[in-house]
Amino acid sequence: MTDDRLLRPLPHFCACGAEAQLVKQKSKTKPYRRYQVQCLDEYSCSNQGSQEVYAWQAVLSWNKSPLSEKPEYLEIPGYDFSNFFTVKDIKEFLKQRRLELEKIIHAKKEQGIKRHHPELEKLRVELAWIIYGQSWIRYYNRQKHQSLFSQSKSSEVCETPMY
Ligand SMILES: [Zn+2]
Repeated sequence: MTDDRLLRPLPHFCACGAEAQLVKQKSKTKPYRRYQVQCLDEYSCSNQGSQEVYAWQAVLSWNKSPLSEKPEYLEIPGYDFSNFFTVKDIKEFLKQRRLELEKIIHAKKEQGIKRHHPELEKLRVELAWIIYGQSWIRYYNRQKHQSLFSQSKSSEVCETPMY
């Protein structure tokens, strides 16, 4: 049932504008390799995401962080937001879906299903996308606020009589 694309998110560009890539490297503290997204501009930018066990975790953590650029539209594989009228509706939907998923995950853990069991991983990857979606909404609302502000400033300029 789970959309396979959920497991393969692509890292957004770095907030500095350079491309970012997913790497797998030795952890400073753990004996096994970890995934991390790093900015490719290693000279003037040293942005790097958190080190994670799963590739999707590292990418989604990077994509939701202020270190990365946000896309113009919210895309979550398997979800269609075109039927939503407002961003507020999407926000409410994501909130409900997050609660639902957290409830299911909690119930599975109660049943004794191990943290890294594929069934639980599928739910956790979907939850991570929903949380990413919520961060996108926050970003979108901030941008909208900023553009409204700059619009009102520019309209003031336009209202100045032309001589
Ligand atoms: Zn960068």
